[in-house]
Amino acid sequence: MYYLDHAATTPLHPEVISVMIKYLQTDYGNPSSKYYPQAMSASSALKESRKCVADLLNCDPEFILFTSGSTESNNFVLKGVVEKYRNKGNHIITSKIEHKSIIETCRHLERLGTKVSYLSVNSEGHIDLNELISLINESTLMVSLMWGNNEIGVVNDVEQISRICHERGVLFHTDATQVVGKIEIDLKKTSLDFLSISAHKIGGPKGVGAVFVGPDDLGLRRRIPSLMDGGDQEYKMRSGTQGMHNIVGFAKACEMAKANLKENNMRLLQLEKKFKEILVSKCPGVKFNGDQINKIPGLLSISIPGINNELLCKQISNQIAISTGSACSIGEKSHVLEALDLADSTSTIRVSLPADLDNVEEVASILLPYISLS
Ligand code: PMP
Repeated sequence: MYYLDHAATTPLHPEVISVMIKYLQTDYGNPSSKYYPQAMSASSALKESRKCVADLLNCDPEFILFTSGSTESNNFVLKGVVEKYRNKGNHIITSKIEHKSIIETCRHLERLGTKVSYLSVNSEGHIDLNELISLINESTLMVSLMWGNNEIGVVNDVEQISRICHERGVLFHTDATQVVGKIEIDLKKTSLDFLSISAHKIGGPKGVGAVFVGPDDLGLRRRIPSLMDGGDQEYKMRSGTQGMHNIVGFAKACEMAKANLKENNMRLLQLEKKFKEILVSKCPGVKFNGDQINKIPGLLSISIPGINNELLCKQISNQIAISTGSACSIGEKSHVLEALDLADSTSTIRVSLPADLDNVEEVASILLPYISLS
């Protein structure tokens, strides 16, 4: 069985599982407690874990807050910025192809009076930077644009976008959930204000992630209101006892993602190239959606004339696990493919490869009878 839905989630890495067990079985203390060994171990693991996440992003650990994942990180940033800076403005800019945790949060904020502009994308999945510039006005608080898209894999030029925002005094947030561990993220080079990531896309556990909250203009900690009222955890910005088993698992996944980044990136590019070559040679009319150069390695949105994507996914599900698109929007029409103006989104599948896939030829040979007969 080939699991090729790594953009939806990834299997837990065995090394991740083994570090998690200790914090479930013996070192179960509350990291905010003191005095006794279980708590001291949890507290030092929290510190160490924050450093591991920060190392992967090349930022200072004190700017990392643990959350339950990217959905929460995205909600926290958007809702928090609107609340904190409501005297400065009430306008946010995002795009039509963001993840639902951005789009639906924006809809929520709109119902409460925030103005939101949704940038269109071209057929490659890119926004128009001039449109972005023209939409920024005195009441614009923040621009939120994803680093890499979860359905088509297109990668934004976040460095340039961030520069455009900062030159105009506007904050910049990026949802980096899909690019982390796939392409280099260096927050010392790319100066941005907020970034969201999730553990389960890089071999870590589900239900844990982080948000980078960069310093303010004076270099001081930026204080964003907590989504939940309660204790003082996570620099008073995310109340609730930290799930240490998840956090140490996330940290181990980050450590491994950093160590294997270059090799995984190269391997994914090779696998993707081979897979595309086979499909193109054997399946006339096959089309790969979105920019095929500035993209997340290993993530492919493939349109195959004549197929029904749901039927295909079911037919091959005993041999290959793939999806029609985002797991967070299953059964719905894809807003991403719609924004790309793709004529027939029901003939589109998403394949997201693992770097350790050993036989891409066999995967193609299982798939081909289903897609070339139709
Ligand atoms: N943003 C993007 C781009 C994603 O792909 C996902 C996961 N599908 C999320 C946010 C939500 O992440 P989580 O599952 O950790 O809440």
